[in-house]
Amino acid sequence: MTQSSILCMFSGGVDSTGVLHELITNDQYKSFSLIIHHIHIWNRENRALAELNAVRNILNYYKKQSSFIFSQSTFDTRGFSALQSNRFPMDMDVCAFTASQICAARPDVKYVAMGRTKTDVSGGGEHFKKRMDRAQAIFKSSLSLEHHKPAEYIFPVVDYTKKEIWDFLPNEVSAATWWCRRPIYKENVANPCGQCSTCEEMKKLERE
Ligand SMILES: [Zn+2]
Repeated sequence: MTQSSILCMFSGGVDSTGVLHELITNDQYKSFSLIIHHIHIWNRENRALAELNAVRNILNYYKKQSSFIFSQSTFDTRGFSALQSNRFPMDMDVCAFTASQICAARPDVKYVAMGRTKTDVSGGGEHFKKRMDRAQAIFKSSLSLEHHKPAEYIFPVVDYTKKEIWDFLPNEVSAATWWCRRPIYKENVANPCGQCSTCEEMKKLERE
């Protein structure tokens, strides 16, 4: 393990697909090995299968032009239903903790690439910033006992809006992304609900 690596936390959504595309195609990242990690996040939103399908299709496209390690894990809070509460862990936090554990296992990881966009930064406000800070605090504190220098977060698409990312992705790739938070399954095929926050975001993007 002599070459430094970048860890790409990949959900199959538009933003993290933009990150993956940048990491594979931008010369700036050419000297790094790439580790792509997908977390199967099972919760009351029931999004895991739709995301996994997107992840598979997108990676099938990129494996023709790039070599990378692909790893996966599962985070399941469906059992929280017994708590009779709507609360469940936020993706960003789950992602931060998982990323920290991969960095502990692989000291060659120098950077963790996350899908923050210009749209998040300009539209997310103070609340978004606080959530980001918390996720990074989780990442850092989970690595506090490691002896090697901790990896840093990078945001390869932070200068792009969601629309700009959608436009620079190859058609085959953008068509394979998944965005809806609460998909409706019909005969095992996932359909966007058309009503959740990310569905609304995508409708706006179509009008731009
Ligand atoms: Zn939706």
